[in-house]
Amino acid sequence: MNILEKNYWLETVAQPAIGSREDLPGRVDVAVVGGGFCGLSAARTLAMRGVRTVVLEAETLGWGASGRNGGMVLTGMKLPVPTLIGRYGRSMVRRMYAASLESIDLVERIVKDEGIECSFARCGHLEVACKKAHFEAYAAAAEEIKKEFNHELRIVGKSELRGEIGSDIYYGGMVDGASASVNPAQYVTGLAQAAQRAGACLYDHARVTSIKPQVIAGSRSLLLETARGKVSAKEVLLATGAYTTEATPGLRKKLIPVGSYIIATEPLPAELARELSPWNRMIYDSKHFLYYYRLTPDNRMLFGGRAAFFPESESTVRESAEILRRGMIEVYPQLAKTKVEFVWGGTLDFAIDVMPHAGKIDEMYFAMGFAGHGVAAATWMGAKLAGIICGDADDNPFSKISFPGAPMGLRSGNTWALPLAGAYYRVLDWVM
Ligand SMILES: Cc1cc2nc3c(=O)[nH]c(=O)nc-3n(C[C@H](O)[C@H](O)[C@H](O)COP(=O)(O)OP(=O)(O)OC[C@H]3O[C@@H](n4cnc5c(N)ncnc54)[C@H](O)[C@@H]3O)c2cc1C
Repeated sequence: MNILEKNYWLETVAQPAIGSREDLPGRVDVAVVGGGFCGLSAARTLAMRGVRTVVLEAETLGWGASGRNGGMVLTGMKLPVPTLIGRYGRSMVRRMYAASLESIDLVERIVKDEGIECSFARCGHLEVACKKAHFEAYAAAAEEIKKEFNHELRIVGKSELRGEIGSDIYYGGMVDGASASVNPAQYVTGLAQAAQRAGACLYDHARVTSIKPQVIAGSRSLLLETARGKVSAKEVLLATGAYTTEATPGLRKKLIPVGSYIIATEPLPAELARELSPWNRMIYDSKHFLYYYRLTPDNRMLFGGRAAFFPESESTVRESAEILRRGMIEVYPQLAKTKVEFVWGGTLDFAIDVMPHAGKIDEMYFAMGFAGHGVAAATWMGAKLAGIICGDADDNPFSKISFPGAPMGLRSGNTWALPLAGAYYRVLDWVM
């Protein structure tokens, strides 16, 4: 295969977001560490509310998961609703689910208000069942979601599935019309430019290497050392996701980094694209090691998966291309002769309980654990935390749940055990 090892989405960004070339200011109200959806959404809200804000990004703006994901703007959370209710109770899960729906509205509103050209569309998502038992569970899930959250999902039996997807390998599906699609690199670029317009100062290539509390003239602040100098901030928001470093060891200890990879084919003829995905839904399957796929606005099949349980590297990216191509052809034999043009990888931020978390750690605000739902959820959480920093009441359900640490072997930086965890989930897919 002659494939470009690069992120297809970046090819579609006309004007990348560029950080400030000026020196860092000595003092600010809030320093946001990390320039992805979460950090940039927070910075936009903070700046709009008149707060002096810097964003410190180690690489380029949007470099992390935000610029390289599948662009699926999804309702719900990673875990099934019955599991969530069992863990957190009905009323808490109602608030979480409402937040998930609100987060898609927020992305839509930002895109519209800021005039971001990123092909946002309410195309809905389709979950497809790899096993009969998975399909049988859909009806109960849809009923529970209707009852608890007054949100409608549609069950699609095997005989009608061809109206939703040009594949015969699944046992049925479930459609949620509220989910949306976006070009994530264009969206994160637009979000950065919106934050800049609102007055936030964005710095790229400004890796934060240490954060220490200090007291000057009786008032407490935090001193951040970066690759571009020092800055003092009254508050710090950690929005470093799966790429969290040793600069914040308390948060890093909680993180389980999971690699995920995507291929993109050459553009498909319009008729074939329509056959594969008549409504251009965001599609994912029901396995633990799931595949997720969609058409791009120029009709490429973008096919992702193969969580490798360790961060991406050149060799894992290369290996993944062939594995994903085989997976894609199992789903869509029609693509056997189609050229794969791009492959890239990224790292997802998981918490051990597979939930998003936010609040304070080591005297700093933080949000992480978005897993495969971060396009909408990280945007929402950033804006929510910004409001709380400005003094809004903390009604964030995700800051009310406990945030368990990752077991020693699975911690970020301790990745020897991650392939074992991967093997465990493969076994689950086999038996469940
Ligand atoms: C391959 C892939 C596919 C995905 N598909 C989807 C999808 O279809 N739908 C969905 O909802 N979610 C998806 N996700 C998840 C989603 O992309 C993330 O949850 C989301 O982007 C997280 O945003 P964030 O702002 O928290 O983190 P990120 O976008 O990862 O940003 C964190 C930033 O912090 C910076 N940073 C880290 N440490 C430091 C430091 N010390 N100093 C300065 N900067 C630092 C990093 O350079 C990085 O740019 C996918 C993720 C991957 C990897």
